[in-house]
Amino acid sequence: MSSVQSAPPSNSSDLDVTLTYHLDIAISITIAIFALLNAPRAVARFANPSERLRGHILRYVALRREPRISASSVSNQMHSDFKKSAVGIQDRSAGCDTILSALPALPTQTLRDTSNPERPVHMPMLSSLVHPVTSVLTRPVHEGYTVGRVLLMAGYAIMVLYCTFYKSNPFSHPSRAGRVIASQIPFVYIFATKNNIVGALVGVGYEKLNFLHRFIGRLAVVGANVHMLGYVYKWTLAGKLSTELTKPFIRWGFVALACFDLLGIGSTQFVRSKSYNLFIVTHVLGLFIFLIAACYHQPACIPFVIAACVFYGVDHLMRIAKTCITTAMLRPIPELGLTRIEIPTLNSGWRAGQHVRLRVLSTDMDYLALTEVHPFTIANVERTEEGMVLMCKKTGRWTSKIYSLSATKRYGEQGREVGEAVRVMIEGPYGGVGNTIMSSYSGALVIAGGIGITFALSAVQELVRSGNDTSVRVIDIVWSIPDVASLTPMIALFTSLIEQRMEVCLRVSVFYTRALKGSSQPTYLPPGVTLTPGRPKIAKFLNDVVTSTQSGGGATGVFVGVCGPPALARDVAVAVRNIDVHQKRMVGGIELHEE
Ligand SMILES: Cc1cc2nc3c(=O)[nH]c(=O)nc-3n(C[C@H](O)[C@H](O)[C@H](O)COP(=O)(O)OP(=O)(O)OC[C@H]3O[C@@H](n4cnc5c(N)ncnc54)[C@H](O)[C@@H]3O)c2cc1C
Repeated sequence: MSSVQSAPPSNSSDLDVTLTYHLDIAISITIAIFALLNAPRAVARFANPSERLRGHILRYVALRREPRISASSVSNQMHSDFKKSAVGIQDRSAGCDTILSALPALPTQTLRDTSNPERPVHMPMLSSLVHPVTSVLTRPVHEGYTVGRVLLMAGYAIMVLYCTFYKSNPFSHPSRAGRVIASQIPFVYIFATKNNIVGALVGVGYEKLNFLHRFIGRLAVVGANVHMLGYVYKWTLAGKLSTELTKPFIRWGFVALACFDLLGIGSTQFVRSKSYNLFIVTHVLGLFIFLIAACYHQPACIPFVIAACVFYGVDHLMRIAKTCITTAMLRPIPELGLTRIEIPTLNSGWRAGQHVRLRVLSTDMDYLALTEVHPFTIANVERTEEGMVLMCKKTGRWTSKIYSLSATKRYGEQGREVGEAVRVMIEGPYGGVGNTIMSSYSGALVIAGGIGITFALSAVQELVRSGNDTSVRVIDIVWSIPDVASLTPMIALFTSLIEQRMEVCLRVSVFYTRALKGSSQPTYLPPGVTLTPGRPKIAKFLNDVVTSTQSGGGATGVFVGVCGPPALARDVAVAVRNIDVHQKRMVGGIELHEE
């Protein structure tokens, strides 16, 4: 909000410019250091032909049809028709056959990819090599924040505060705060993008860097208000407040400030939880109008606004390139309280743990729902006949609507019940395990809570599919669910996973917390699947996986993946941190991925 009359002396202005450029250079150097530390893992991933092309663009590829291996302990068959995918499970206690509706089993042969028999190169995460430091940095401080993240934010805040206050008082020289905020515009925007260049350089998905967008955004809101208060104070003392407020560039300054304050209020947890749509609308409008207002307010903002527009524009072009409109089949899975979404026309291009953003283009939802895009983790491995599968848990308005839509009964040509076909817009894939090559580890422990099983399924299916190109010899899935009824539709899938890799020790341990009702109990559990009441003892599972991996001669580390409620993720992080350092070293390190 500087004006010609209130402009500071030019040597002070030079210092402002120098400090803000130094600030941006320091931030860029920090990003470059993280990128360099990640470079060996990026090279290991992109040098691997089977990993190089996956995880960027969704597509359809023709599948080689090969005969299926019939499962021996259960009569499970893979059908694209949901009714046909019911599994005949022998109820041994009652001596009769019970038909349970189930998620389709894996088509055994089509999942194996034997084109590249070479084992992937394992490049450990730097953090797994420096145990004591990692143990401190990964300690949780608050929900979603570790010591490492807090230190990073503290360092950032110190740099910003230093540049704002060095030889400057915000009440006598309020333009400094404005300049510092302007210099942060590109970073606020870059950390908000889905196709995030920083994420690509440091090897993590956009969602893992979003805390920086929120943090820098908050700093900018506070700084913009300090900038305005400093000028109002100065003008009031000089008795020229009303004159200044008539100037157009000052008014544009107030428009920009109003946008920032709207963004600040609109992105509070309160607004996000009460109305996610209000958060999105205020965000899009605020971010867009702010850029225009900032340029009219102060031409010095223009280079920073251009940089922000470039990042935002490239992101949106990439989003368009990553978007496709296609038909999806919706089917309700009442036992899990979710909608299973199958997209047969997209069967390739993703990696385990990645998610897509889904918009349903059906007026049967409602007109507001048409405007909404929701993220869902891809629940299966690529290159299967069923295509991409999403599992969408009923949690709020939109997810309940899609569930109701899926429950609409439709009948096919032979009078058989089929799912509801709807047009959908799919954008992605995004996120996932970054440059981690899961099949390069010797052991894997995947822990899921409730709907977090989507991550576990895609991760384990990918490991199972890897055939001979995997080093993994031990895989443990731990699934915590409230109600044991949720297990029934998954039994066929778990069975086929276990049966496909005889040379790998694959176990599934399911824990339930609600009291059993007679009808909800599964009548048969295949070997390798256990069902236990209570909560899982994560430390014990981790210890078991590490011991079995070690005794099997594995020395390329243990991958631990967790997807579920924050409390579960915290327990897993504590277990990984507390495991004996010597044991960690012997097994080649333990690397934690939180989804
Ligand atoms: C990366 C990622 C992957 C996910 N994967 C799955 C999955 O595989 N299966 C699954 O069932 N759920 C998944 N979710 C959660 C799912 O996106 C939300 O449950 C769903 O969007 C809620 O929508 P709603 O309107 O029904 O619920 P609401 O009651 O409106 O929202 C419940 C909460 O979900 C969040 N939310 C709402 N809308 C959105 C949105 N458009 N984008 C992001 N968050 C939103 C908000 O924090 C809100 O407080 C995932 C979320 C993320 C961020």
